[in-house]
Amino acid sequence: MTQSDDRLKDKQFATRAVRAGQARTHEGEHSEAMFLTSSYVFDSAEHAAARFAGDEEGNIYSRFTNPTVRNFEQRLATLEGGEVAVGTSSGMSAILSTFMGLLAAGDHVVSSRSIFGTTRVLFDKYLAKFGIETDFVALTDLAAWEAAIQPNTKALFLETPSNPLNEIADIKKLSAIAKAHDCILIVDNCFCTPALQRPLALGADIVIHSATKYIDGQGRGVGGAVVGDADLVGEQVYGFLRTAGPTMSPFNAWLFLKGLETLDIRMKAHSAAALELAIWLEQQPQVEKVFYAGLPSHPQHALAKQQQSDFGGIIAFEVKGGQAGAWKVIDATTWLSITANLGDTKTTITHPETTTHGRLTQEERDLAGIRDGLLRISVGLEDVADIKAELQCGFVLL
Ligand SMILES: *Cc1c(COP(=O)(O)O)cnc(C)c1O
Repeated sequence: MTQSDDRLKDKQFATRAVRAGQARTHEGEHSEAMFLTSSYVFDSAEHAAARFAGDEEGNIYSRFTNPTVRNFEQRLATLEGGEVAVGTSSGMSAILSTFMGLLAAGDHVVSSRSIFGTTRVLFDKYLAKFGIETDFVALTDLAAWEAAIQPNTKALFLETPSNPLNEIADIKKLSAIAKAHDCILIVDNCFCTPALQRPLALGADIVIHSATKYIDGQGRGVGGAVVGDADLVGEQVYGFLRTAGPTMSPFNAWLFLKGLETLDIRMKAHSAAALELAIWLEQQPQVEKVFYAGLPSHPQHALAKQQQSDFGGIIAFEVKGGQAGAWKVIDATTWLSITANLGDTKTTITHPETTTHGRLTQEERDLAGIRDGLLRISVGLEDVADIKAELQCGFVLL
């Protein structure tokens, strides 16, 4: 558990992304040191006893604290505007730790229907086993959220923009609904990152990250984080984390620290390239529909503009010819990465119906609007003209 770093509090986002949280050692290293150590030594038996008793602050064991992980946590906490951040071993363990820390048997959760597939499995298959029930509602239907809240509802959970269709939730309005019913609002901020959207400032209580995506940004490591206040995150979520152990490794914390240093500039570049590509896609005769909140044709373009500083790097679009058409476009590419991962410098392309959303029933996919001709692109940092040419290879076959 790590408090945010106050030294750079009044500095701009990009400055904090590069500088916050570093505590140099006596060696005077310029870059952040990586503390690959599982445990820590004490000066004396009395010193050890004081640490274990909590009379003195300091490291004991890296399941509890590690200086490199702390560095990452402080940097992320200041970027999200949270009191506390905790690093986790993956995005999924960030979500699991949040629910294990905050909920008990008999509690109820209302979740957006448009969430990461594995998060859905966590709710349906595992949390349900421990007596935590979840109801799913349409992300943008505020009345449905309110109607789904029961006396035992403890948390509302959502991702915005959603995957893959880029639907936008009104975080401020949902936060008002959550507060009126004494619920915690939890936002998975994976698609925007704090560079584009800061849910805590809009009234959310907790922000979740898969650091695997844009925070690393270069496809190198799996990790996650939970950000919020000193009680919810610093005590309750951290308490579970240090006990159960899905903590972030110092090696990965170091990767993510380096990722954060370029986050601001990368998110601007991803967003600019995605907007250019989305506008171009809308003009292609083989493309039936484009889902990107940066386009005026998007039903929540105005809300996205108000809530986010830019629109991010993920585009979904439907091509002619259903699944066969979509697969043709994927298979005609020569260097795009055919993978379900996203948030990378390398552009990735996937067919949600048969990959990320393949475990849903047909009815659930219909409800979620995942059609068979839908493709999702995570726009990387290659030249946009080259990305267009890659897609054109497939479009000419349709
Ligand atoms: C990938 C992802 C996760 C899970 O993160 P992992 O690091 O893969 O465990 C959670 N939420 C969203 C929105 C994601 O894209």
